[in-house]
Amino acid sequence: MTSDPLKSYRAKRDFSITSEPLPKVAGEIMDSKNAIFVVQKHYSRNLHYDLRLEVDGVLKSWAIPKRLSLDPKQKRLAIETEDHPLEYAGFEGIIPEGQYGAGTVIVWDIGIYENITEKDGRIMHISQALENGHAAILLNGKKLSGGFALTRTKRGWILVKMKDELADSSKDILKAQPESVLFTASKEISKKKMKGFSKIFFTL
Ligand code: MN
Repeated sequence: MTSDPLKSYRAKRDFSITSEPLPKVAGEIMDSKNAIFVVQKHYSRNLHYDLRLEVDGVLKSWAIPKRLSLDPKQKRLAIETEDHPLEYAGFEGIIPEGQYGAGTVIVWDIGIYENITEKDGRIMHISQALENGHAAILLNGKKLSGGFALTRTKRGWILVKMKDELADSSKDILKAQPESVLFTASKEISKKKMKGFSKIFFTL
């Protein structure tokens, strides 16, 4: 039996107190093409945005303390946090005081992403890309779209918008669209019947 990637997630939380999802099974391995991404807006000690990418049956997670940007010149520190269960992509609510990450969480954006990390003209598996310290992804969310790059540096991971037609140095998307997308997004995306999506929204 392989080690449980959600061990740290479980260990940090008291599921008799928090309403965050208790994962039922350890992550199942899935094809990461058209996998889920979610950005949760989390007011805890500080407002930050949690970026999560479905990788091998769990949500790889980064906390972005400085605001997300569509400007390719704005590099954002992305602090790697513990893997979360896939069910977490649908989580919104209040994490009670005294609990890990106490505060409020909304689903600021959700959608699918495509891994476009290339090596020698071929797409590298996303988990390999992350292990190597550089991943290029195409987001297809309600708010975020286009290419983003995640790169590991000495200071930690850096998230940056790639230069494409969806890059925008003038628009502050966080201010323009501050609200949750959960229900509008789920309706739209479920029409596409993307792999991985139905099971999450059916469990909401
Ligand atoms: Mn957080």
